[in-house]
Amino acid sequence: MRKLTILGATGSIGASTFKVIEQNPEQFSVVALAAGSNVEKMRQLCQKWQPKYAVMACDDAALQLKHQLSELKVNTEVLAGVDAMCQVSAMDEVDTVMAAIVGAAGLLPTMAAVKVGKRVLLANKEALVMSGQLFIDAVKHSGAELMPVDSEHNAIFQCLPSQIQTNLGRCDLGQEGIQHILLTGSGGPFRYCDIDTLSSVTPEQAIAHPNWSMGPKISVDSATMMNKGLEYIEAKWLFNTSREQLKVVIHPQSVIHSMVQYQDGSVLAQMGEPDMATPIALTLSYPNRVSAGVAPLDFTQVGELTFLAPDFNRYPCLKLAIDACYEGQHATTALNAANEVAVAAFLDRALSFTDIAVVNEAVLSKVCAGSTRAHCSDLESILELDRMARVLATEIVSERKL
Ligand code: NDP
Repeated sequence: MRKLTILGATGSIGASTFKVIEQNPEQFSVVALAAGSNVEKMRQLCQKWQPKYAVMACDDAALQLKHQLSELKVNTEVLAGVDAMCQVSAMDEVDTVMAAIVGAAGLLPTMAAVKVGKRVLLANKEALVMSGQLFIDAVKHSGAELMPVDSEHNAIFQCLPSQIQTNLGRCDLGQEGIQHILLTGSGGPFRYCDIDTLSSVTPEQAIAHPNWSMGPKISVDSATMMNKGLEYIEAKWLFNTSREQLKVVIHPQSVIHSMVQYQDGSVLAQMGEPDMATPIALTLSYPNRVSAGVAPLDFTQVGELTFLAPDFNRYPCLKLAIDACYEGQHATTALNAANEVAVAAFLDRALSFTDIAVVNEAVLSKVCAGSTRAHCSDLESILELDRMARVLATEIVSERKL
């Protein structure tokens, strides 16, 4: 039986994780849950799953939860803060950690699991974007079992030979006969609309993803294709790709979740309904397969599958992320931080949709022009750069405020 800590338990990936566990209750046990501030949802989860520990981001939320659970006579120990999240990620009682906190807040708890060699189900792509080489070095050093949850990376993982699956971050694609990794993306809700109308897009329109149901931040990132940019950086680290080996292809139907092109001309693709329970089930049960509660893909209903190249005029954030990937760690860390600030401002109706890219580009060019690039050699310096980029982004947002 796998013993789990679920970071980001109250979110969309958390919900899909519970869906898989419900399908296979004899195979998984929930030891600890962690989330930000949603006390109501966490209370419901604690009542249902009776975890040994529940961690909230701040003392206030933890206190409320503790009070409610004690009234309900639920025997879960409630903790607060990032150190407690690191503790429940690294403790001996768990062997598997679902890393699904959104954004930079997930970095330290995810790293805590990596450093002690857990099986780490990586949904929190921002952690890898922020810490790249340090993350991969920590995986190598501890022997952690890294499993990509992101549907694209999970699809690529499934299309790769086992010697690469068990050697993520350090594999040699060329040696295994692989020519290209084809990272697919739907293009989000605005792929066909007039580019001139994008400046007036509302948060409701941006969040309404045509194929996937996800949390608000990743939904906006999908609409700008920053999500694909972050995934590009994530893929570079996971699969150790060169610029030539990694390509982005727009595939509006989201039936193919990504592909691997081999030197002999073969292309392997992973397909399925767009439901995160499928990749999560694989990461939980690998190398076996379990039921995910997902309907089988009905090819008679799929219709046409189409593909096109990304247009960087429509998706400037994608271009920024690809450029940042080759600029270095300072650039990807700063871009991730700027984007979190810009997306939060957009969701608060304080920034226009098209200004997300403007804020990101301004922060990136300041950080890349400065002397910060040498300072990403440890987690402290990464977190310091993350803070600095957030201050810069907040200043730029207030200059452009709606
Ligand atoms: P949601 O917004 O639905 O959930 C985010 C989770 O993170 C919630 O549990 C939230 O808690 C928690 N959280 C937020 N801030 C903190 C904090 N400071 N400390 C601890 N926990 C915190 O996001 P998603 O589930 O959609 O995404 C989670 C991650 O997975 C992201 O990195 C995303 O990119 C990635 N991902 C998501 C996919 C999807 O389909 N949803 C697909 C692939 C990757 P609370 O609710 O209490 O605030």
